[in-house]
Amino acid sequence: MGIAHLSTGELFRQEMKRRSALGRSVERYVTHGRLVPDALVVKVMTHRLTPGLLARGIVLDGFPRTVGQAKGLDAFLKKAKRPLDGAVYLDCSASVLVARLSGRQVCGRCGAIYHVRRMPPKRSGVCDHCGGTLVVRPDDQVATIKKRLAIDHAESKQLLAYYRGQRVLFPINGNGTGAQAFARAMKLFRREDWLAATGPELHDATLAARVRR
Ligand SMILES: [Zn+2]
Repeated sequence: MGIAHLSTGELFRQEMKRRSALGRSVERYVTHGRLVPDALVVKVMTHRLTPGLLARGIVLDGFPRTVGQAKGLDAFLKKAKRPLDGAVYLDCSASVLVARLSGRQVCGRCGAIYHVRRMPPKRSGVCDHCGGTLVVRPDDQVATIKKRLAIDHAESKQLLAYYRGQRVLFPINGNGTGAQAFARAMKLFRREDWLAATGPELHDATLAARVRR
């Protein structure tokens, strides 16, 4: 749709690969399995939000994840005079999340994420990007997934309250297939007129192509 897509995981990998100052800072946390601090996550994301991209529109994927990150993003957008159009919340039931997460494999070298059913690597057990070995993190065993979801739930509740308070929260039913969730998202984007950068014909064609797949 001609809209840029930035995900935290992807940007982390890019910065680490480039050995940039930001990438080296991120690496210090990631290699030790520690949570990257909010201020650093915000820095990695916002330094890519150029005026050109901001004018065209951007989807921030998996960011912000905490109220701290949300506040950092707000401060940046306020300075850039480009307020947030909306925070889209893909709301999934716990059983759907457990089913999706339990097939996950992660590259031990570069952190790329795969799924045995929905996003398998070209060669089983081997990373497409760097050839590293794929592992199932202890985090992704079903029992620990359930524990983690309970913790995530508490955190996201605060984030949802933050955006609800700003009247920019848009929940979407994220259950079912990817195509179903995509169709629901498109309906929301059209209703809110977030796709002004491209023509309506293109949206319908893209949507139809996605749904057919
Ligand atoms: Zn890899």
